[in-house]
Amino acid sequence: MSVLPITINDRSFNPQRIFCIGKNYDEHIKELGGQTPEEPVVFMKPVSSIVVPGETLCMPRHGKLLHHEVEVVLLIGKEGRDVSDALSYIAGVTVGLDLTLRDVQGRLKKAGLPWELSKSFEQSAPLGDFKAYDANVIDLENLSFSCSVNGDLRQQGNTCDMLFPIRSLIYTLSRWWTLQPGDIIYTGTPSGVGSLESGDRVDIESPVTGSFSWTLSF
Ligand code: ZN
Repeated sequence: MSVLPITINDRSFNPQRIFCIGKNYDEHIKELGGQTPEEPVVFMKPVSSIVVPGETLCMPRHGKLLHHEVEVVLLIGKEGRDVSDALSYIAGVTVGLDLTLRDVQGRLKKAGLPWELSKSFEQSAPLGDFKAYDANVIDLENLSFSCSVNGDLRQQGNTCDMLFPIRSLIYTLSRWWTLQPGDIIYTGTPSGVGSLESGDRVDIESPVTGSFSWTLSF
C-alpha cells in the first residue's frame, strides 16, 4: 500500500527523506541506560519503510526484540537553510512508530556500528495521517501523545519534556541539511518502550490527530 503522495489541504508532498531524532526525552534515555546528548542525535529511515494505518505489519526476521517507540512526527512544507522561524516550516503533524529491533541495536552499539539494521528495516515506520499544522490551533510545545498495546497503555508523553524542543530540532536539522518540502521528522520517544509480539494490536494517538492502529502478523 502506498502512502505517497501525502496530501494536506490540496497540497501534495512526495517525501524523499525521513529524519529521526534519538535520545530526546530524559526518562527514555534513563530506561535504556544512555548518555544525554549535547546536540540532537539524528538517524534516517527510507521512505519505503512507511506503513499506513491499518496496513498489516509483519515481524522482521533478523531480530527478536521488536520495540514500539511512539513519536510526534512533522511534515516540512517549504525549503529552508539555517531557518530562524522554525515552526513556520511545518506543514503537518501526526504520530508514528519508530519500530526498533532492540537486541540488534544493542549489538550494533556495542560494536560501534551504524544503526540501520535495527532502525531502518522494511516496515519500520508506521505513520499516522498528517493533520494540517496551524500554530493558532496546535501547541507543538505542549502536545500529549500515547501508545497502547492490546488496550494497555504503554507510553504516555508530552512534547514539553523534549531535551531539544521542536523549534530547536528544525533549526539544527536545517544547519546540517537544506530542508525540503515533504521531509518527515520523527521527533523522539518518551519512556515506556517495550516489546511487541505477533498478534499484538498497537494504537497510537494524540488529541490533535486522533488514533491510528496496526496489528502485527508473522
Ligand atoms: Zn525513536
